[in-house]
Amino acid sequence: MSAAQFPVKCVTCGKVINPYWNNYKTRTDAGETPIKVLDSLKIGRMCCRRMFMCHVDIEHYQLLYPVYKDNIQRTEQTVNKKPHNFGQVSDDEE
Ligand SMILES: [Zn+2]
Repeated sequence: MSAAQFPVKCVTCGKVINPYWNNYKTRTDAGETPIKVLDSLKIGRMCCRRMFMCHVDIEHYQLLYPVYKDNIQRTEQTVNKKPHNFGQVSDDEE
C-alpha cells in the first residue's frame, strides 16, 4: 500500500491531501465507511472528498505487465547515452 500514485494536492482547491491517503486506505479496507473516515480526518470539501472516493489504485496491476520491465531498461539505455549535440558535427560521427 503506497501513496505514490495518489495525487499530492486536490486538483480543484490545492489542499495537500496525499499524507492522508494511507490512513484513509487502511481504515476503509478494515470496513469503516469513507464518509466517517473523511469526517474524522477533517476533509470536508466535496472536491477533496471526491479525490479520495474516486481514486483507483492501479499500482499492483502495473506489475503484472512485463512491458514495464522493458520500458525501464530502455529508459536506462537512453539516460546512459551520450547527449546529442544539436547542429554541431563531432569528429567521431564522420
Ligand atoms: Zn479540494
